[in-house]
Amino acid sequence: MVHQHLKKFKKISATKEGVTRLGLSEWEEKAHAAAAAVFSRSRRVKNIRDQAGNTFLVNGDGPGPYVVMGSHLDTVPNGGWLDGALGVAAALTAMKKILQKQRKAPVAVAIWADEEGYRFGNGLWGSRAFAGKVSAEELLLEDRDGVLLAEVLAERGLQKKPRRSRETGELVTKFTYKPPIEIAVYAEAHIEQGRQLISAGKRIGLVTHVSGIRRWRLESMGELNHAGTTPMRERRDALVPIAGMVGRLPQLVRGVSSGVITCGAMGVDPGVANVIPSRAWAIVEHRAPTERDQDEIARRLKELVATTGPRAPGVGLDVLPITSVRPTALSEEITQRLEEICREADVESMRLVSMGGHDAMSVAQVAPAGLFFIPSLRGFSHRPDEDSRREDIKLAGDTLYRWALAELERVL
Ligand SMILES: [Zn+2]
Repeated sequence: MVHQHLKKFKKISATKEGVTRLGLSEWEEKAHAAAAAVFSRSRRVKNIRDQAGNTFLVNGDGPGPYVVMGSHLDTVPNGGWLDGALGVAAALTAMKKILQKQRKAPVAVAIWADEEGYRFGNGLWGSRAFAGKVSAEELLLEDRDGVLLAEVLAERGLQKKPRRSRETGELVTKFTYKPPIEIAVYAEAHIEQGRQLISAGKRIGLVTHVSGIRRWRLESMGELNHAGTTPMRERRDALVPIAGMVGRLPQLVRGVSSGVITCGAMGVDPGVANVIPSRAWAIVEHRAPTERDQDEIARRLKELVATTGPRAPGVGLDVLPITSVRPTALSEEITQRLEEICREADVESMRLVSMGGHDAMSVAQVAPAGLFFIPSLRGFSHRPDEDSRREDIKLAGDTLYRWALAELERVL
């Protein structure tokens, strides 16, 4: 069943190559609707959409608490078919199987909106909203075309339109959110997106911690001018200091164990070959398993900006925080329960730390949450050839099912 759901989701894509279902797009909405259709014939299962664009498929009317399984259905452009979708397909399969046995079981599937954060450079959008970790300022984030997150949310009918303050003329945003259900316990299945499991020859990876992720926006303001007639000493080129800083990023994580830093997006205005850039920006993110390591990398980044400034006279440099997700410890009880389930089913498992962010880390802020991985073939992810073995895809559904049954026994 997990495989069938996945094939159905794969077809919902804006492009032919790979899978393109950006967060907060009509394609993501179509995928949420396809997931909800699994229970369209059930009168008990309610389809609840919240103010962040998350979908909850809930067995019963009450606010809970529920035993919840979930993941996300958005992808990066030209991404793979399993990242996120596997967890939703496994959750749908497990919930369906449970309801065949226990019609009134308090179970639910959560499908978190815009986990990847591709368009606005934020990430874990829906699950952070659920955990109360979204601020009104975040709604002022702009995409590449200058469209605000607030505008997209209003367009999708999720939030009110931003308004302009009469006194200051500035845009005023407000984020209204009330979690529609209460989560008693949460578990998520995901593909590993790395090579630890294949290297160790194990089939399930039990995630004990997820590394923290901080994102910053480096920005510079210079002066637009002719690329031929402006002498070198008179230029205020916005791109040069930003490009220099990006080149030095790898030095900032030296000596930080498991620390990684990346600039995966940058832009330049006006972006014309014979015009000196007047504005440039780069998004920088860093990850590390502890908050102390994250603080150290952030300190080094700010120092880099402070020392670069004087070497670029006439160019305004700034570093602005976008999002910060703290390193997260997942529920030890849930990890032990999953470990037990693997042992009973004769499936080899191992504990590991995830360097990738996952919705489970947001949920962990408000409820006990667990996360487990199945192996990714060749460790590939965020690319069209991302894949896992058929029997491991099935195993994700079986493990989630056994876990939810065990939790229901405790909750009921
Ligand atoms: Zn994912």
